[in-house]
Amino acid sequence: MNQHPETMAITAGRPSLTPDGALNPPVVLTSTFHAGGEIGYGRYGNQTWSALEDAIGALEGGPTLVFSSGMAAISAVFSILPVGAPVVASNQGYSGVMVLLNSFHESGRLEVRFVDVLDTQSVIDAMDGAALVWLESPTNPGLDVADLTTLIGAAKKLGIGVGVDNTFATPLVQTPLSMGADIVMHSVTKFLSGHSDVLMGSLSTNDPALLKRLHDARSFNGSIPGPFESWLALRGLRTFPLRFYKSQENAQGLVAKLGSHPKITRVRYPGFGAIISFEVDGTAEQTQKVCESSKLIAHATSLGGVESLWERRRRWPMESASVPEQLIRLSVGCEHIDDLWNDINLALASI
Ligand SMILES: *Cc1c(COP(=O)(O)O)cnc(C)c1O
Repeated sequence: MNQHPETMAITAGRPSLTPDGALNPPVVLTSTFHAGGEIGYGRYGNQTWSALEDAIGALEGGPTLVFSSGMAAISAVFSILPVGAPVVASNQGYSGVMVLLNSFHESGRLEVRFVDVLDTQSVIDAMDGAALVWLESPTNPGLDVADLTTLIGAAKKLGIGVGVDNTFATPLVQTPLSMGADIVMHSVTKFLSGHSDVLMGSLSTNDPALLKRLHDARSFNGSIPGPFESWLALRGLRTFPLRFYKSQENAQGLVAKLGSHPKITRVRYPGFGAIISFEVDGTAEQTQKVCESSKLIAHATSLGGVESLWERRRRWPMESASVPEQLIRLSVGCEHIDDLWNDINLALASI
């Protein structure tokens, strides 16, 4: 019987069982290897990366490569597309990806067809002749949920590659490879490592030829992670299911409370996960003040850690104009829900 994800997060990526063998993989700090082996040089592979790759691969259900950041992983995917290749992508998503896609589109590097992922038919219509469909679901920070089953099915029927950014849902909610996607990507920085102390990304694929091309992209773009960061990420991954379920339980409890708060006009929450986006009944400045008034929730960007974080997304000039000025993205951590609610209440009382 296949292990459950909660078990695999703990068992995968361990050294083989030998007497006095270490339970945990060591941090392999070396730039080169004695000749005659499979790795050869530190830009092509590292045993500590491999341990983390085995663990993420077990959860996502496909061979995995880790990168120096989530953006490095996404960039590796786009880097293997031919110049001018048509790509279908959401018109609202992680700001870094939007910046990258917009600049590729403007320079002619790629022909990006921006779509509304909530409008399934329009996404399918845009697929004609495309090389890749890049889906983020739920989107960051709008929390739009795409109909992945239908979209992946339609793309596969047309022979088009599909990549899914699974950072928000995580493999505990959905495993896009099992739905037919070619690539699943993570900002490992977020839930998988979970302690806001490391930046890393990953790509998983069941297509051996594609895996080889992505491996080459990592090797020759040089977008490799550090062995120590890989070790930290794997250490964090051991508790990923525990953290995720606790954060999700907190988030579900907070959604109900936020929805009836008089100073909040709209709460977005897909029903799962630990990210809530809500809109404050006030100006951008007042919303900013709320974020700056919390004592427990850190006013900081990023998400997916044990510590709760929030920010007004439009404080970043690169954030999409479609994201409301009053939108706060809250990444719910593992603190006690009463302490979180108390902090949110006090911060909202500042305006
Ligand atoms: C953070 C994030 C990224 C980028 O990952 P980095 O590790 O910051 O480079 C990509 N997609 C989503 C959905 C993210 O939240």
